Order: sequence, then C-alpha cells, then structure tokens
Amino acid sequence: MPAENRAYDYVIVGAGSAGCVLASRLTEDPDTRVLLLEAGGPASPREVRIPAAFSKLYKTLVDWNYSTEPEPCLRNRKLYWPRGKMIGGSSSMNAMIYIRGNSADYDGWASLGNDRWGFQDVLPYFKKSERQERGASEYHGANGPLNVADLRCVNPLTRSFLSAAQELGIPANSDFNSATQDGAGLYQVTQKNGQRHSAADAYLHPALARPNLKVLANAHATRIVLENRRAVGIEYIRNNAVETVRANREVLLAGGSVNSPQLLLLSGIGPADQIRSAGVRAVHDVPGVGKNLQDHPMVSVGYLCTRPVTMANAESPVNFLRYLMFKRGPLVSNVAEAGIFLRTRPGLNVPDLQLLFGPAYYVNHGLTPRKEHCFGFGPTLVTPESRGSISLKSSNPLEPPAIYANYLSIPADMRVLVEGVKLSRQLAHAKSFEPYRGDELHPGSSVQSDAEIVEFIRAEAQTLYHPVGSCKMGNDSMAVVDASLRVHGIDGLRVADASVMPRIPSGNTNAPTIMIAEKAADILRAGF
Ligand SMILES: Cc1cc2nc3c(=O)[nH]c(=O)nc-3n(C[C@H](O)[C@H](O)[C@H](O)COP(=O)(O)OP(=O)(O)OC[C@H]3O[C@@H](n4cnc5c(N)ncnc54)[C@H](O)[C@@H]3O)c2cc1C
Repeated sequence: MPAENRAYDYVIVGAGSAGCVLASRLTEDPDTRVLLLEAGGPASPREVRIPAAFSKLYKTLVDWNYSTEPEPCLRNRKLYWPRGKMIGGSSSMNAMIYIRGNSADYDGWASLGNDRWGFQDVLPYFKKSERQERGASEYHGANGPLNVADLRCVNPLTRSFLSAAQELGIPANSDFNSATQDGAGLYQVTQKNGQRHSAADAYLHPALARPNLKVLANAHATRIVLENRRAVGIEYIRNNAVETVRANREVLLAGGSVNSPQLLLLSGIGPADQIRSAGVRAVHDVPGVGKNLQDHPMVSVGYLCTRPVTMANAESPVNFLRYLMFKRGPLVSNVAEAGIFLRTRPGLNVPDLQLLFGPAYYVNHGLTPRKEHCFGFGPTLVTPESRGSISLKSSNPLEPPAIYANYLSIPADMRVLVEGVKLSRQLAHAKSFEPYRGDELHPGSSVQSDAEIVEFIRAEAQTLYHPVGSCKMGNDSMAVVDASLRVHGIDGLRVADASVMPRIPSGNTNAPTIMIAEKAADILRAGF
C-alpha cells in the first residue's frame, strides 16, 4: 500500500491561503492525522520571496494561468486570471496587502443567515491569525503566525499620493483594519524582514516536522470519492498515476474559488443538468455550486513621471545588492503601496471604491512593461452587484473550467469605476504631484466624457485577483455550504476557502480567507 494510503482523519485539497491554515491548526492535536494535497510544487522561484517581483510569477509554472470566457460587458475580452499553483497557493504570488474589509461586510454575512459570522464573531480569528508588528490592540493580535508589517520602503510618489488625498479633503487613515476603513493611507503587508510571508511561511512550514502531517505536492485532486452521499476520500493524479486516499473523518476542500466548485462538479455535486451535459454522473443536486461568483474589477490610470524616482529603477544592481544584504530598498515594495477607501455616494454602509496607488506602470498586469518612469492609480469596485459563474467545460479534471466573471453587467457597477477614474485624475492634478506629473498615458487626454470613460473601462478593466463566492455559505436554495461549512446534503465534506464567502468583502481577500480557515479549524475541533 503506498505511504499516502495510510489512514488519515482529514484529507485537505489545496495548500493555499486556507489549506495551509487548516493543515497547521488541525495537526496541533497530535492525535489528528492530516494529508494535504497540492497540485503545484514548492514555492521555489526566488520571485516568490522578493516582494516587488510578484508579477514576474504570472504565466509561469507556478500560475494556473486561467482566463475567463469572453466578457460580454468588456468587449468580449477573455481576461487573464492568475492563481497560485504552488505551496502557499495565491498567498505565494499575491501583492501582500493586508486588508480585512469592513465590519459591516461580516455583519452582512450573518444577516444572510450565517450565524456566528458577524464581525464580533470573526474578529477573534483575524486577531488569532495575526502577528501585528505594531503590537496588540482592540483590533489586532500580536501572537499569531501571520506577520503583518509596515512597508520598509515607501516611494516619494506614494507620499505625494497621500498628500494629494489630503488636498482633496480625504481624511488620512493610519490603519484600514481598525474602527474606520474609510480614508487614505499606506497599506500594511504580509511580509517578514522585507520578504513575503505567505500562508505557507506562516502556518505550514512550522508544522512540517509534525509526524501527524503529510504534505503531497504535485498531487492534483480529480474527484471526491463518495459512498452513499458521504465523502470518504479523494482521487488524485501524481506522477501520471491515479491514486486514492481515504479520509476517516472528513474531506476538506481548500482549492480556491475556481477549483473547489470545479472539484464538486467533477464529483457529481452541483446543478444536475449542467453536470450531466458535461458528461459527469450527477450524484446530488446542489444548484448553487459555481454560481454567485464575485470579483473586484480594476482599471489602470497611468502617467509618465518627470523624475527618475519610480520602481523603474528597482532592479538596478545597487538595489539588488541592498535587497540581498539588508532586505531594504525598492525591491521590498509591494508596488501598490497605498490606497484610498471611499464611498462614491451618500447612504452606503461600506466604501464602494478602493483606489490603489503604485509608483510604477501596472497596466495589463505589468506584463507589458515600459522603460520610462511612470506612476499609476488603480480604481477598483469593491461592492460589485454583478455575479458570474464557474461551470465544467468537460469531464476532464485537468481541463480548466469555464469562468464567466460577468464583470460590470449591472450598470451601477460601471458608475463606481467611472467615479474612480475621475478621482484618479483629480489626485494626479493635485499640487502634490506637480513635481512629477507628465503626460497621462491611460486613458489619455482624448478620453473626457463619461461615455468615453465607460468605453475606456470596457476596453481596459481587469481583475484585482479576488474571486470569491462560488460555493457560498448560507441556508437558501443556492447555498452550497452551511454556516459550519458542511456541503448541504453530503456527509463528511466541507469547503473552507475564499469560495464560501456569501458576499465579497469591501477589500482584499487574503486575510478574510485566512480568517475563514482559522474559524473552520475551530469548528472542526469543536465537532460541529
Ligand atoms: C496576483 C494576485 C494578487 C493578489 N493580491 C492580494 C493582496 O495584495 N492582498 C490580498 O488580501 N489578496 C490578494 N490576492 C487574493 C488572495 O491571495 C486570495 O483571495 C487568497 O489567496 C485565496 O485563498 P484560497 O485558499 O481560497 O485559494 P488559493 O490561495 O489560491 O489556494 C488554492 C490552492 O489549492 C491548490 N489546488 C487547486 N486545485 C487543486 C486540485 N484539484 N488538487 C490539488 N490542489 C489544488 C492550488 O494550487 C492552490 O495552492 C491576490 C491574488 C492574486 C492571484
């Protein structure tokens, strides 16, 4: 019998932000045996460690390299969706911004029927996960595994951005993750000593020596093994061979918002008609699997910079040396160094716009670099009403599913991005940017009217990399998991990753995903 076919209590699919937390927390109990399966390999490229290099991981072997189906409201463009395919998952390639969203986001989850997911319920898990370098407080924890740091290197342009915001009357905010989310400020980052601190660094690596934890990399889960509507194991492919492993207690899906619904569908759990038409035997009709997909769309507003102060110099030999020797200098920047959370109209209970700023040219995911010095704004809609879906293209588990993000299909969503483009221009024309501002590259001076800005957004909008919601938690007919993250109608099976969020938080999604996994581990330990 292969080693991995020993009995495990839990088999976890996916060693990403959530999977690393689950594996680490569950194996704190020496009597609990866990197998963690990960489709990717180790997070070995050096660009994983170097904060400013994250976009160099795009379209490489450590990226699932997804793209959406043609997006009807974005000129039928197929949008590139990076997702981490390695130990640490997307936390090994993300932009490291530490944001939780708004307390009202979680109270909203609770009001949708998810008891014990309100802000006061989830705050202890945010704090439990956190090692806040500023120290503990009402909102922060200082003894958790995940290091949360202030940026070690802040570009002078980022300082100009913050003073430009003040000129426009936007209040300063020194901590987006405390009582008030609104305002302008520097981001805190998941970094330690100037290097990325992924969920693998924080949770998994310290647990690897435990005899009750086994991690299998390059193991692609292809099907949940079911017996009479009970999940009893996982089938996976490793080294071109199909293997199965049994889970004595439960199977835990943590493959992320694309893969968790895909694996359910491949296993016959989901909308029965759709499953059958993909050539898979339908086992249990759960109509919401793959539905309710939400993401934050972003558009880049970019300027030439008249002084040589941007990230264009980041890779100079001197800066490499500074990074290698001291973990200082522009290579420790996460590029999107600061931002604004703002409500674009009265009456909103959370900010609907997040406006990121970077002293760099970040258009087309940074995949088409420019030699000149540039800076840019990234207005992002953080309360989308548009909903997309994930479905099977075929019964082949190695073929990516169809992703319909359906961005900006609700007109109100477009309005927020239009406001964001206008605000970016106002900021760029504030006094604080005068020493630096060159020509506007995106959208460019020919784009002025609202209708022209809308067309620019249709042509250029992209993901801010936050897909969630495709296995939503709840108790309505479209819910996939209940408030204890159990898949409705199937025993021994839970989903615990970004896909269970019923509504996307009004901010970045890594910290919320880690919070979900922390809470899931507690739920499992308590035997709910
Ligand atoms: C480029 C980028 C930038 C981002 N920037 C930020 C940011 O600055 N701040 C922030 O808060 N959030 C950011 N995010 C989002 C954040 O990282 C994600 O929301 C979070 O990591 C999601 O966690 P997850 O556990 O749901 O999925 P993931 O972390 O993606 O983990 C899923 C894991 O499961 C594995 N897997 C999938 N399918 C299978 C299978 N069939 N078998 C075995 N293994 C499988 C994957 O390889 C992966 O390791 C960014 C994301 C990206 C991609």
